Amino acid sequence: MMAADGLPPLREVIAQHGLRAKKALGQNFLLDLNLTAKIARQAGDLGRADVLEIGPGPGGLTRGLLAEGARRVLAVEKDAGCLPVLEEISAAFPGRLEVVHGDALDIDPLAHLNAPIRVVANLPYNIGTELLVRWLTPPDWPPFWQSLTLMFQKEVAQRIVAQPGSRAYGRLSVLAQWRSAPRIAMEIPPDAFTPRPKVHSAVVQIDALPEPRFPADPGMLSAVVAKAFNQRRKMLRSALKGLTPDIEERIVAAGLRPTDRAEKVSVEGFCALARELSAK
Ligand code: SAM
Repeated sequence: MMAADGLPPLREVIAQHGLRAKKALGQNFLLDLNLTAKIARQAGDLGRADVLEIGPGPGGLTRGLLAEGARRVLAVEKDAGCLPVLEEISAAFPGRLEVVHGDALDIDPLAHLNAPIRVVANLPYNIGTELLVRWLTPPDWPPFWQSLTLMFQKEVAQRIVAQPGSRAYGRLSVLAQWRSAPRIAMEIPPDAFTPRPKVHSAVVQIDALPEPRFPADPGMLSAVVAKAFNQRRKMLRSALKGLTPDIEERIVAAGLRPTDRAEKVSVEGFCALARELSAK
């Protein structure tokens, strides 16, 4: 029996094309089209947006995005084995799906898509954090994307939304909450994936704010936060040693205490410190 989009069910597609999940590429596929449509709906109004999807695999989420009315989808996939399947989807949605064979780390989405752009992806685990940090730390704001709807391991999702003082609070929390509004939209159990991973997952919805909550230079903020959380239990004066000889005075000038620990410092506090260090 065909699925609602006129294409065969995903299990059939995978069997027909002899696809086998490759661990090295982080392949855990979503095969339930009701679930992929639900994830696509989290992303907001797709009819008025182009969508960047990283790692479409056999195209479950891609089909969800197209069925939910995405204006256009650019799907970037590293595994050549998935391309014939994706071409079939492209043929079923004429002019709406462009498939690029390549590494997501090397692609310039603006060469293919028009604003507004929403990013929706069940990310490969090995490049998920790197892509997220890149998307959160461009020199200028607002970024090329309006929203990010991303699947992560649940622990990573919790770090993105964590508040100061909690164990999960860290670099990702500060970078995500500085210029965006992140929230956990859905939790996804291991059974939803084929093959079944050991970990639980969650979809995080990150909406770009029109302006940063507090002024700071992105490069300086990233550097300070990375150093501070590299030794999260140490006091700021030790964790940030080496950044500048007068680090204690800078910390005080930013309204913080040299004895504070990174896990207690708010986003506002880190931005103040980044401004102090940039002013030098
Ligand atoms: N979106 C599909 C789904 O939800 O069923 C597949 C998700 S799977 C977790 C991650 C996908 O990313 C795989 O298809 C994998 O081949 C692809 N991938 C891995 N590394 C990649 C990279 N550097 N650039 C683009 N795609 C990559």
